[in-house]
Amino acid sequence: MSSGRTDNPAAERVAVITGGASGIGLGAARHLAAAGHPVALLDLDGDAVHRAAADLRDDGATVSAHEVDVVDRASIDTALDKVRGELGPVSVVVTSAGIEASAPFVDITAEDWERLLTVNLTGTFHSIQAAVPDMLEAAWGRIITISSMSAQSGAPDRAHYAASKGGVIALTKALAFELSPKGITVNTIPPSIIVTPMAENSVKEGTLDLGAVAGMTPVRRAGTPDDVGATCAFLCSDGAGFITGQTIGVNGGWYL
Ligand code: NAP
Repeated sequence: MSSGRTDNPAAERVAVITGGASGIGLGAARHLAAAGHPVALLDLDGDAVHRAAADLRDDGATVSAHEVDVVDRASIDTALDKVRGELGPVSVVVTSAGIEASAPFVDITAEDWERLLTVNLTGTFHSIQAAVPDMLEAAWGRIITISSMSAQSGAPDRAHYAASKGGVIALTKALAFELSPKGITVNTIPPSIIVTPMAENSVKEGTLDLGAVAGMTPVRRAGTPDDVGATCAFLCSDGAGFITGQTIGVNGGWYL
């Protein structure tokens, strides 16, 4: 259960983070927990999500953890019912669950196209729609989608990935118009390269050179989950209540 009356409003605002077991989602969870939010981690990787939850609890956080496939609406609904029972209604959603792929456009199969769109875009739709009734009831909420700079700048060999993330940006803007009058802000973070297990896989596959990325980034480094997590925590604060429908670049100046 959440911790009762407190001077910190975050303590009563349960934050659900999809993809919360790893990388950017885990960074968001750490920063939201540090701000005082009870956090619920939803992730496809059941072992990793429980390990991440244990680590956060060791740091004093209030955490609920669930194995969920964001493509499977029933698994999200079941997890959120448990979250409501354990922590209370959902006030914040960060959608970080996602997958990437790289292939020349002519080699992208219909199955790969469908898979990227389904996990990255439809999964985001399900995750938000399952949680938003709690925010409407409270007339307060924060939704942050994790899109990708590749949807702003374009990216070679990433047509399916960039298209899925462009859809996330458009979904975010549409929801901001619809939900902001009801007290819910909706923003998207389209990161540049962030050093996470996903990025490390691309390094192993030879499709990403982190040194080259750092050299071409104005701040001269790749990003970290903390860079994105800190922005998430700010966007979830009361101080960010006038920020909605925005595409907040966390990219070291790579895309201006
Ligand atoms: P990550 O370290 O791989 O974390 C993503 C997490 O989401 C993993 O734990 C993954 O589980 C989980 N996941 C994948 N499919 C899922 C599903 N269907 N249902 C529930 N959970 C699922 O990747 P990341 O780098 O943190 O990426 C997080 C988000 O940021 C993604 O949407 C990604 O597209 C976006 N992004 C990343 C970068 C970057 O450079 N890292 C840049 C721009 C945007 P499994 O490990 O079991 O697959």
